[in-house]
Amino acid sequence: MTTSAAVGATPVMDRLISRTVRKHQPLSVHFDLTYRCNERCVHCYLDHDDHGELSTAECLAVINELAQAGTLFLTFSGGEIFLRPDLYEILAEARRLHFDISLKTNALLVTPERAERLREFGVRRVQISVYSDIPEVHDAITKVPGSLQRTLAAIPLLLEQGLQVKLACPLMRENLLAYRGVMDLAEKIGVPYVLDLTITPMMDGNEGPLAHRIPVSSLLPVMQDPKLHACMPQPTAEAALAMQEYPAAIGSAVSSGIDSEAYEDLPCSAGHNSCYISPYGDVYPCVQLPQAAGNLRRKRFNDIWYHAPQLERLRGVRESQLPVCSRCEIRSYCERCPGLALMEGGDLLGAYERACELAEQKARLAGVTEPISALHKEQVAKLMQATIENDSASVIANSGSH
Ligand code: SF4
Ligand code: SF4
Repeated sequence: MTTSAAVGATPVMDRLISRTVRKHQPLSVHFDLTYRCNERCVHCYLDHDDHGELSTAECLAVINELAQAGTLFLTFSGGEIFLRPDLYEILAEARRLHFDISLKTNALLVTPERAERLREFGVRRVQISVYSDIPEVHDAITKVPGSLQRTLAAIPLLLEQGLQVKLACPLMRENLLAYRGVMDLAEKIGVPYVLDLTITPMMDGNEGPLAHRIPVSSLLPVMQDPKLHACMPQPTAEAALAMQEYPAAIGSAVSSGIDSEAYEDLPCSAGHNSCYISPYGDVYPCVQLPQAAGNLRRKRFNDIWYHAPQLERLRGVRESQLPVCSRCEIRSYCERCPGLALMEGGDLLGAYERACELAEQKARLAGVTEPISALHKEQVAKLMQATIENDSASVIANSGSH
């Protein structure tokens, strides 16, 4: 897995990753408890209506099955998790089962009492979405007036409880110029951050959110920013510790950003030692890879994880065997995601435009002369072939007419 934000795993983590990849153990699971939300972000890929969320008892059963399957890292996300009235019940069970617990939230509903309860329930990390340090920009994206102020007010409450906080800033047309402000804000508070360039279609395939995506040509200032490729200053010992896990960079707010040799020749961790569970109990290789492998209302987790044909097929994929990308000269600059390849190019194994454009831009910045992706090379070759065929056809037609 190559991401510019990836950090090397510690030796212990490396061994854990190697073992779980080898044995296909679900080390890390992302569980969305709801798609309902109290914000309406312009770029969001979710349908916020409740189409039959798992009940409390079903959620507890799911996390018990995950514990039996050997999951260690459990991330609860949404939608907005605090809209689940049974959140603490679920966290209590997760704590009893000794998971390493992370949360993703917009933090609008965090109060001093709730922050304290998160600590009591053993939550270790909280990732909070912040789109800008300018209220008008942030609130225009969330469509909730006053949301930035409320989100920022939550951060000290969580830090006071000893929780690790990380800011995640998805970058889109609306906040492209605000990224520096988010970086400065994070540094001032003393927490790590990630700028995420990924804007995906909606889960039902609706491409509306893509209108907010920044064209690669406009990303130059961000990609050239030297600050994004170095770890930020470490103002406190606690923050330094947090930053070992969360370096500051351009990356993905979805993936852990941890790189390991165990992933060598694999597209990523999805389906190997990580997966995603929707609020309706559907199991996917990743939140960004929309191929449901089974539903936990009908099958046990282990049956899906070890026997679903979708997951077995995914586990057989090797980067070195990808039809187009394996021949790509600028592959080392590419952050190809199999999920986006499926959503955007229609082929899990294929190349897709956005990844190629970003890789070419990065390679150019690194000094590669006229970088061209394998996909674009193929397209140019096809175009040339078509032109030659057209020319030959007109020559034949012309010669026949004399
Ligand atoms: S499918 Fe994409 S987002 Fe998911 S883990 Fe793989 S590379 Fe990351
Ligand atoms: S062809 Fe495109 S998607 Fe594939 S490795 Fe090259 S740059 Fe990445």
